Amino acid sequence: MMLGFLLARAGVEVLVLEKHADFLRDFRGDTIHPSTLELMYELGLLEEFLKRPHQEVRELRGQVGGEAFTLADFTHLPTHCRFIAFMPQADFLTFVVEQGRRYPGFHVEMQAEATDLIEENGRVVGVQVKTSQGVREVRANLTVGADGRHSVIRARAGLEVVDLGAPMDVMWMRLSRRSGDPGQTFGYVERGREEIRQRGLPSFREEIATLAPFLRDRVDELRDWKDISLLTVAVDRLSRWWRPGLLCIGDAAHAMSPVGGVGINLAIQDAVATANILGPVLLQGTPSERDLRAVQKRRTFPTRATQRLQIVVQNNVIRRVLGSTKPLTLSGPFKLLARWPYLRRIPARLIGIGFRPEHVKLRKLKTYSNELPTSSARA
Ligand SMILES: Cc1cc2nc3c(=O)[nH]c(=O)nc-3n(C[C@H](O)[C@H](O)[C@H](O)COP(=O)(O)OP(=O)(O)OC[C@H]3O[C@@H](n4cnc5c(N)ncnc54)[C@H](O)[C@@H]3O)c2cc1C
Repeated sequence: MMLGFLLARAGVEVLVLEKHADFLRDFRGDTIHPSTLELMYELGLLEEFLKRPHQEVRELRGQVGGEAFTLADFTHLPTHCRFIAFMPQADFLTFVVEQGRRYPGFHVEMQAEATDLIEENGRVVGVQVKTSQGVREVRANLTVGADGRHSVIRARAGLEVVDLGAPMDVMWMRLSRRSGDPGQTFGYVERGREEIRQRGLPSFREEIATLAPFLRDRVDELRDWKDISLLTVAVDRLSRWWRPGLLCIGDAAHAMSPVGGVGINLAIQDAVATANILGPVLLQGTPSERDLRAVQKRRTFPTRATQRLQIVVQNNVIRRVLGSTKPLTLSGPFKLLARWPYLRRIPARLIGIGFRPEHVKLRKLKTYSNELPTSSARA
């Protein structure tokens, strides 16, 4: 959606296909990172964006066993917003769509599921789309697979996936927030608990209330297992993100571990890099293999470096916690963070900004004050 918005803003005709009828689907995280807020600033949208309901989190705190500690302090970041904004992803997407609709080249089609690629002479030239009216073809100068961790596009394209492995699954749920709750986000780490579902929902509610006692008065909001999403954690990436006429970005190119909650950030950074590199080409016509390779080259380092860090945390912290039977205590690096507040700026930078932050370089088409764009390129 972000890539569609950026390209349409520059004068490229774009069609975004979304298989669901709305954005209120499975929970996928609510974090808008300082780097994304900085992009909003660069686009002149920050003020408008921050008018939407959100919560601002300036520190990330955690609790291991009985010990609480601060993991990251965002208040020193070199960005306009020194906090993570928590906003339901549906609201964020709706905001991007509203901004996109200001540009005549921006089209979104809901309940339109890409089911296969159309190929001609070894080149991807579009997709088959299933809608309530039947199946039809959409042709494009460039097809972008931004269809998430279970990407149909990457599977149909036969792109090789390198699986990096993950030692845990994650359960996500939403509980209401009340005045008087602890001001910052808390991560509570306790020993792994298997067969949670078999023990039943009341037992699960009790476990949450024991871990985070301030939630005891509202765990009943979890009425059904449907209120709880299971994320089977995958950490993977494509060896090659593209084929002639096709590019994968976001989770479709690299599913991220939930460690650090940075998947949305990376996906948006991919979109900005893609718009910067391919936008000018799309205004003229069709990207070459060299152009597509340039996007992967630009985004490979941030992807690999982030995944490497996530795997270090998975193997050295999470695997240790889940596998241990001894009482849990803070390990070395967390002790240092507890002792030296200055060090909390490092995780803040890694989580809040990440490696090689992107900036919007693709210009808005000048004619947008009152004229229509002229390009007929479609992505
Ligand atoms: C439970 C959970 C919690 C998470 N929490 C966080 C968090 O707190 N912070 C964070 O940064 N990241 C979090 N993540 C990761 C984050 O959601 C992803 O990294 C990010 O959303 C990737 O963005 P994307 O646009 O690449 O893919 P997605 O957000 O997965 O978007 C893909 C879109 O494509 C649509 N689609 C799929 N297939 C098709 C098709 N064939 N045709 C048409 N449309 C299709 C989907 O409906 C979806 O709207 C979480 C993930 C999960 C699963």
